[in-house]
Amino acid sequence: MNIKWKLTLWAAVLMLLLFLSYNLLQYTVIQNWVNNHEKEIIRNNMHEVVAYLQGFEPGSRITDSGDYLKILNERYQLIRIVDAKDAAILTISDKVPEHWVQPKYVTSEELLEISPGGDTLLIYRQPLEISGFTGSVEIVRNLENFESLINLITTLFIITGLVAIILSLIGGRLISFQLLNPINSIIRTMKRIRENGLKERVQITNQQDEMTELSLMFNELMDSLEQSFRQQQQFIEDASHELKTPLSIIHGHLSMIKRWGKDDPEVLNRSIQLSLNETNRLIRMVSELLILTRANHSAAVADYAPENIRVKQVIEEIIENFQTVNAEFRMLTRLDISDDCILHVQKSHFQQVIIIILDNAIKYSRDRKEIRISAAVEAGKLVIEVKDFGMGIPEDELHLVTNRFYRVDKARSRKHGGNGLGLAIATRLMDSYTGELGIDSVYGEWTRVTLKFPLKHEQAAGGGKEESP
Ligand code: ADP
Repeated sequence: MNIKWKLTLWAAVLMLLLFLSYNLLQYTVIQNWVNNHEKEIIRNNMHEVVAYLQGFEPGSRITDSGDYLKILNERYQLIRIVDAKDAAILTISDKVPEHWVQPKYVTSEELLEISPGGDTLLIYRQPLEISGFTGSVEIVRNLENFESLINLITTLFIITGLVAIILSLIGGRLISFQLLNPINSIIRTMKRIRENGLKERVQITNQQDEMTELSLMFNELMDSLEQSFRQQQQFIEDASHELKTPLSIIHGHLSMIKRWGKDDPEVLNRSIQLSLNETNRLIRMVSELLILTRANHSAAVADYAPENIRVKQVIEEIIENFQTVNAEFRMLTRLDISDDCILHVQKSHFQQVIIIILDNAIKYSRDRKEIRISAAVEAGKLVIEVKDFGMGIPEDELHLVTNRFYRVDKARSRKHGGNGLGLAIATRLMDSYTGELGIDSVYGEWTRVTLKFPLKHEQAAGGGKEESP
């Protein structure tokens, strides 16, 4: 059974149960009330009859009371005076056949209900002791009125019960429709997505309920799925395109060697060397691509292990290494942070970002071989700046250089072994530590890369600042 019918049935059964239990309660209350009312009437009548008989003059005959008792009697009621031998002395009846109830003498009062021939009779007997007479008074009430009232109520309940069954089924169906409509809409959208692709979305209604929220969530999920799908596609396209160039070069050299290079040692050596350069580039590109994919979800990869690193020490080590390899450069360093300035990052990630930035500063330098490196704590953040006086980046390309494979000057970048992945990796690594990477530059004059890392509270409060001499 599908949810639609389950919901319909459950809603219908619950509504019906509610209706039936309420009706049953009402029926019982009415029945009890009417029953008690009848008993009260019969008791009052008995009280009046007995009071009247007890007021009789001594010596009067009981049978003389007939006229008065006739006036006292009500519709569908019998009053009878019985002697000690169970014989009826006086009987007044209104539409209650005498033979329905046999006269009976009682010594203590009794109240009972019997049903001869389908009618319900209420009988009340009470002993009567007056001067010269011992017997009892009997009042019999035919509860026909009461019966017909109860029958009417029962019929009414059956009819309204049937109407309630139909209404609760319709109501249940309506409820299930209301609840399941948005879900069905999502199912339809999913089917369309399977047939037409990721562009399809669920139609959002004006209502503001949980189901709208579900549809919104679904659409948002599809948005991010579509976006990451596109990004992946783009990534594969870009990567294949970039891999194609070195592979074509290697292919060209191998073809050349095959045709005539074997006999010409000069051509052979040159082609082998150039092919080796390209394979090195390929190896570097593949490993950079690997780093890039890991940097995209750095916190999720298995080897992610952030630690407390002493920033100043790490920066100084890197600068020293760079200075050793690039002795012609002047590295002007100003680290306005204390030795205890701690950053909670994976050390290799931090090193990687600084190396990428310094490497670019050197790669894209020109005549002025000067690099300025500074570090300070500003507004709760560790700010590291690397400024070079090289070729710079055109203003309209500044926002593009952090894209994968983007290079301002393709030929120059290629000459230095650049694949256009360095800044993309650095940006993603910074993102994963909720840091920021900013670049500003004046084309042909200088380039400044700014890294901002959020610090923990105690450090941000000034703990990272070095004492001025
Ligand atoms: P690449 O490996 O090509 O250097 P990057 O992602 O590190 O890749 O940089 C992207 C591009 O941004 C470079 O190709 C270069 O054109 C430009 N660029 C980056 N850093 C600098 C810099 N310091 N000075 C001038 N141009 C730069």
